[in-house]
Order: sequence, then structure tokens, then C-alpha cells
Amino acid sequence: MLQKLEMDKIVSLCKRRGFIYPSSEIYGGISSCWDYGPIGIELKRNIKDAWWRTMVQERDDVLGIDTSILMSPEIWKSSGHISNFTDPMVECKSCHSRWRSSELKEDKCPKCNGELTDPKMFNLMFRTFMGPVEEQANTIYLRPETAQGIFVNFANVISTSRKKLPLGIAQIGKSFRNEITPGNFIFRTREFEQMEMEYFVKQGTDEQWFDYWFKERYKWYINLGIKPENLRLRQHGKDELAHYAKACSDIEYLFPMGWSELEGIANRGNYDLTQHSEHSGKDLSYYDRESDTHYLPFVIEPSAGVDRSLLAFLLDAYDEEIVKGESRVVLHLHPSLAPIKVTVLPLSKKENLAVLAKEIHKQLCRSFTTHYDDSQSIGRRYRRQDEIGTPFCVTIDFQSLEDNQVTIRERDTLAQIRVPIKNLDLILHAKLKGEIFSTSEL
Ligand code: ATP
Repeated sequence: MLQKLEMDKIVSLCKRRGFIYPSSEIYGGISSCWDYGPIGIELKRNIKDAWWRTMVQERDDVLGIDTSILMSPEIWKSSGHISNFTDPMVECKSCHSRWRSSELKEDKCPKCNGELTDPKMFNLMFRTFMGPVEEQANTIYLRPETAQGIFVNFANVISTSRKKLPLGIAQIGKSFRNEITPGNFIFRTREFEQMEMEYFVKQGTDEQWFDYWFKERYKWYINLGIKPENLRLRQHGKDELAHYAKACSDIEYLFPMGWSELEGIANRGNYDLTQHSEHSGKDLSYYDRESDTHYLPFVIEPSAGVDRSLLAFLLDAYDEEIVKGESRVVLHLHPSLAPIKVTVLPLSKKENLAVLAKEIHKQLCRSFTTHYDDSQSIGRRYRRQDEIGTPFCVTIDFQSLEDNQVTIRERDTLAQIRVPIKNLDLILHAKLKGEIFSTSEL
């Protein structure tokens, strides 16, 4: 079961099959940085696409944006990140290792049992310099959240889209936090990707929208195959709230190290727009034509991590099964997330089979991420596809040359069905969407 599943199994599968590699590996690696390999990048793109489809494409009240990582340092002063984006940190007086005090169960060093210093507030923003002169005046920050790029463009989006509230602005992009204790593989890293949406509403309707977005976001994970028993809601106590938040609830996932945040849904009130209006001197209020009033909208923010979701999807999909007396590792990933949708497997490397198999591969590539594999036994090839979660394999055998039919083998049921080559594309499309085909319909 999941609680017993060692994170090590996922880390090793990720390395072995090209999902995720340690960054800078040939130079001995760099703490908490990871690179996505050829299979991992497909999964990551599919997660981002699924989020964008649900949050932007399928709605008429949310628009997308892509803002720069480097922004005016004034933004971080106004948003409160320079003074408040801190974690309490303690240092061991003996071995000098540093810890985030909120994560410690005892007041002794977890490494050497040494005495700890009193907590000191540590700012999590990465600092660098813009331009060739490294001086205070040129200090800028790598963004620790994508949200501020949205707030400072609120007026631009409203005036160019001519949309009314409630309106959401969504963004996917990299964020950086100089975390004191990164770890647990890609769960907490210093460079990561976020999927954030700021939903601007009229004050008074904010609590209702907060509930709405919490439910929508919970549904998103369930619809993509996360088991409900591995998800739960946790409301933040008043003492835990971020400096900008009026209320916050987390969607937590049962990771191997215990229940931990997967996504946060926050009611940011009108804190950010108020701060930016005051500090920039620009009026960021919204004109409500119906009531003929100007106001600063409240904001509901569902904020998810791409990498953290990817880890949850992998853990949830992972299984070890016995099939016909042999064990197999399989990822039961939702078909829309599966990195490779179809793999074409010619039964032999003989030329006439290879020609037909390559033709089929070329045709399927236009519609799906399709792989081709002709090495080793067919059993081994199926196992390799199971391990990376490929929902369908298409096998071409010698009979295919005679009857123009091929076999589709399904990852989850292991069912094998024979279908005409001319209908292959259509059938795979329907199967990936979860539509059922009876044999007579083929
Ligand atoms: P935590 O309490 O775990 O540090 P947080 O409450 O600071 O997280 P938020 O600021 O709410 O996190 O960020 C929103 C989402 O971004 C998180 O739910 C998570 O999925 C992702 N995220 C935040 N920090 C990291 C990180 N260091 N590494 C990977 N993902 C992160």
C-alpha cells in the first residue's frame, strides 16, 4: 500500500526509465535540483495541459497570461515579500546544520542531537543583480510565486479583454525559493513550477467562490485518477496564514512521508491590489458598470505545484502486480497524463513486418505521442511499456500482412483485441477518451 511504498522505488524508476535525473549528475549533483528526461517531460507537459484545459480553455471566465520571472524589486516591497516571506530557521550549535524550525519534532538537532540556536527569520527569496554592476541599487529577485505577475497586470487584462468580474487570470511558470530544508525528491525543491490562478470577485461573494474553487480543484485530481482516500482537506489555523491571506485550505495528499500539501487555495482578500495601488500610485480599482461603483476586488487563489502534482500522480499510479506468475511494475496513469499513448511493436525485425510497422508508427505519430520498439521479446517489451504507463501497445504480426489487422493490447485489463489497420487511429482516439467499443463496432 501507499504508506509502505518507499519513495526510493519511485526515485529509482524515474532514473531508470528517463522520467527524472539528478541535476548536474556528472559533477556530483547539486542539492535538491532535478532534470526531467524524455519520458518525464511528456508527463509534465500533460499535467500542465490538463490544468490549462480545465482552468482556461474550457471556461469563459478565465484568461491566461505569461509574465516575466525578473520583475521590478518594487513589486516585492509592495507585496510584503521582502519583509514577510520568511521561515523561522534554527542552527545546530555543534554541527552547524540548519533546519526549518516548524518542521522539527524536538528541540534538538535531528542530525547530531546537538543544541539549537533560537529561531531566526530567513528570507526565502533568491537575490541577484541586474546588469553588470553588482551593487545594492541593482538587486533583483527571482520570483517566489507567479501570482505577483498577475496582480500587476490586472488592469492591463481588464482593459484589453473588456471582461467583467468575476474573472480569473491563470499562469504556469517557474518559481524559486531558497528553502531551508528541501527534500523528499521533487516534493520540495528550490526551483519548481507552479500553476496558479487569481480569481477576482466582488467582496462579499469571496467566501462562496472560495468553496467553489476548493471543490473544483479537488475534483480535478479525482478526475485525473487520484484515489479519494489519498486526498484530504486541511484548513489553516489563523497562526499559520501567509501574510497576505484571509483564509487558506490545503488539498493534502498522502505522500510516503505522511499527509502533506499538494495545493493551497487561499482567500487573499484585496491585499495585493491594495498594496500595488498604494505603492505604484496607479488606480487598480475595477469599475462595476451595473452598480456604477469602483472597488478593489477580492481574490481567490488556487495554487498548485507542477512537480508536486507529478510526484502524487506517479505515487498514486504505481503498482506491482503478479501476472501469469510473473511480477510486473505498472503505472496506472490516467490516459490523458500517460507520457506515451501508444507503442508500436512489430513481432519480428523481418523487413516486410518492419515496413508495415513503421508506416503505422508514422501514421499514429500525427495524432499521439507514439513510440516504436523492436528489441527483445514481446513480453519484455510489454513490461517496459507498463513501467512507464503506456495505455496501449499495437502489435504487428505476420498475419497482419495478410488480413490488414493488428492487435491492441491494453495496459490495465491486459485485454487484446484485433482491429483493422484502417480504423486504428479512430479506435485509439475513442479508447483514450474512455469510450467503449464492442467488437461489432470495429
Ligand atoms: P509548503 O508549506 O509546503 O512550503 P507553501 O504553503 O509555502 O508550501 P504555497 O506558497 O501555497 O506553498 O505554494 C503553492 C504550491 O506550490 C504548493 O502547494 C506546492 O504544490 C508548490 N510549492 C511550493 N513550494 C514548493 C517547493 N519548494 N517545491 C516544490 N513545490 C512547491
